[in-house]
Amino acid sequence: MRDAAVYTGRAAVRAGVLVTGTEVLTGIISDRNGPWIAERLRELGVDVAMIEVVGDRPADLLGALRHMEAEGVAVIVTSGGLGPTADDLTAEIVAEFCGREMVLDEQLEQRIFAILEPLIARWPDADPVAIRAANRKQAVIPQGATVLPPRGTAPGLVVPALRPGEGPTVVVLPGPPRELMPMWEDALTSAPFRRAIAGAQPGEREIVRLFGVPEAQISATLREAAAAGLELAQLEITTCLRRGELEISTRFAAGSRGHYVSLLSFIEERHGEHLFSRDGSTIDEQVAQLLAGGETIATAESCTGGLLAARLTERAGSSAYVLGGTVAYSNDAKSGVLGVDPQLIERHGAVSVEVARALADGARRSFQASVGVGITGIAGPGGGSPEKPVGLVCMSVSRGLGEGRGELSLTRRTQLPGDRTAVRERATTVAMHLIARVLRGESD
Ligand code: ATP
Ligand code: MG
Repeated sequence: MRDAAVYTGRAAVRAGVLVTGTEVLTGIISDRNGPWIAERLRELGVDVAMIEVVGDRPADLLGALRHMEAEGVAVIVTSGGLGPTADDLTAEIVAEFCGREMVLDEQLEQRIFAILEPLIARWPDADPVAIRAANRKQAVIPQGATVLPPRGTAPGLVVPALRPGEGPTVVVLPGPPRELMPMWEDALTSAPFRRAIAGAQPGEREIVRLFGVPEAQISATLREAAAAGLELAQLEITTCLRRGELEISTRFAAGSRGHYVSLLSFIEERHGEHLFSRDGSTIDEQVAQLLAGGETIATAESCTGGLLAARLTERAGSSAYVLGGTVAYSNDAKSGVLGVDPQLIERHGAVSVEVARALADGARRSFQASVGVGITGIAGPGGGSPEKPVGLVCMSVSRGLGEGRGELSLTRRTQLPGDRTAVRERATTVAMHLIARVLRGESD
């Protein structure tokens, strides 16, 4: 994700997210909590200033908390380190940070024991005394903290600053995402958290997507918009390249919708033909919706090796319109399985618009589908030539309109940038756009 040119410090309430765990720091597991919490905070209108990841070391935890405080955040949300073992020390460190004593909450201890009792019964070899002692630890919490009910065995905590308004409120959540996510709902409704984010203005967010425009071009358009007097300072605009498409996400306060509408018209004027989604829908959603209107589809893929079929079937319910796909990698497979004329391959080469078209027709025919897609290209790194360099991909979509009503087709030869993985991935995106256009009635 890359932040674009324009950013405003609109939100008054800032927050930091502190992800703990040596396994996250070392990359053994990838962080699912930090971005998730950040997104939830943004929805509340809180400006997330940073996500920090630290290992299970007391000094590093404390250092990160102090750094966030120095940055003036009103809220810190932590993830991880709430378990019963000795390396789980978040609650303790947060108490130290807030200047609060650690105290045993007897009611909480009973509650955790009630959760553990059936588990202890299931492990006959376990030492119940040791388990109780370990879990008593989870009932020792910073004095004055609000307890969030355990979703596993670990309770969450909301710990306000010792003196109101002097220092951040810390929301302490467990590491396992399946525990953290439901507990977030309880954190939201807790009184100290509500107080800490009282000044936040929940904003709105709109997403539009473009295809076939370089990111630099959009940056230039945004600069032009600012120069033309649009109030971009009221908008928080983020642009990001994803799967070869450009996503523009804009956040704004409810009262600033007018500024967003002006920006959208400005983008539409300049990049209308590349703007394929005004409501945030992805090309995959659009293709699915178009196909669901009574079409069926089949694929014949060479260089993408089934990636397009995988993408078309990513969505639940795709069996309603995806009939099947063939990976025809060798020339023999193209001819033998999909009926591509060997002379066509000899004359034009396997990577050619002619063969792409024959593959699309072959897919349609062999699966009795209304729409066929053919993809053939040179993904690299080897196999390129001056006339047919690495990254050259030919693709075709053909669609029968029914008995005696003819057909539509679009066939393209495109040069895609990047390495083998990028070329193959990008080719599926180009194909998805080509499919959408044919389904909307376009034809060469
Ligand atoms: P536990 O009681 O399970 O020890 P905990 O609150 O102490 O919970 P951690 O020990 O930090 O949490 O993490 C426990 C497990 O939860 C990790 O091994 C990992 O599988 C998962 N987990 C923790 N943090 C994250 C994260 N940021 N993203 C994804 N998974 C995580
Ligand atoms: Mg743990």
